[in-house]
Amino acid sequence: MDDEKTLDHLSEFIKKNPELGFSIEDYTIKVDLKKKIAGLPSKGSKSDVSKIAKKYSKKALEEKKPMMSYLKTKDFDIDEIKKTALVFLDDLIRSLSDPRSTENEEDNKIKIEEINKYIDIINLKPKVFRQIISAELVNDFEWLISLAERSEADPLLMINLGSTYIQPFAEELRRLVDTEFREEWFRKECPVCGRKTTVGKLIDRKRYFVCNFCSTEYRVPLLICNYCDNSDQHELAFYSIKGLNNLHIDFCKKCSHYMKMIDEDKTDEHIPSGLEDIFTLKLDIIAQKQDLIRDI
Ligand SMILES: [Zn+2]
Ligand SMILES: [Zn+2]
Repeated sequence: MDDEKTLDHLSEFIKKNPELGFSIEDYTIKVDLKKKIAGLPSKGSKSDVSKIAKKYSKKALEEKKPMMSYLKTKDFDIDEIKKTALVFLDDLIRSLSDPRSTENEEDNKIKIEEINKYIDIINLKPKVFRQIISAELVNDFEWLISLAERSEADPLLMINLGSTYIQPFAEELRRLVDTEFREEWFRKECPVCGRKTTVGKLIDRKRYFVCNFCSTEYRVPLLICNYCDNSDQHELAFYSIKGLNNLHIDFCKKCSHYMKMIDEDKTDEHIPSGLEDIFTLKLDIIAQKQDLIRDI
């Protein structure tokens, strides 16, 4: 689904569910930046994405390592990505300081301050931007958080912007991998980007996890905890949700972690791709009331 349609679905959902308190503004910033990066040749990478998909899918399956783990920063056009990001952030600051957007003047001031701190960090040393992309490729969020904290900058902005630089590439890779690759994976982490997730689907009585980052749907064992690998059926259970028969919560009695599940076999109502985690936020509230723990 294209990003504009995703935004339409999201704003409609937020209007219907104001109690969730989800802010569409930060999401919109990510979508706008993503569009710019997606417009770069080969989605910001240096070679044709289909060649990369072909080169690594078999290897990834054999070695049980996510495809993105084979890529290094030298495979990306770092200078172009950085240039695009800086132009985007400059434009963003300009629109936030527009006197016509007085409605959230105070909030905008804080946002501008945070964006300026971020720009200073990526401009301070020539290697920093490359290191950010490198950390995103191996999902080293701790390093990104510490980079932000050292400059008293916003860690969430650091992670969000950083992931957006490689997201269009990851999504393109997902479009290009074949069904067999996704069906034979059987691991908790995404086979394309290696990230963990919070949401899954039941399709034809088979269990899939859905990556919140690149939207890959990949097959996982029917009975396994998404956190501790426990596969003892007596220690795994689920909550059904009153009034929502297409949704349930899988949880593990051993470690108390949970996974939100969408039962595609029980509904005609389709949750738009890329919005599975947000459209099931209600389940997080229910699960956490039961003292269950969300992994990420
Ligand atoms: Zn992924
Ligand atoms: Zn567990």
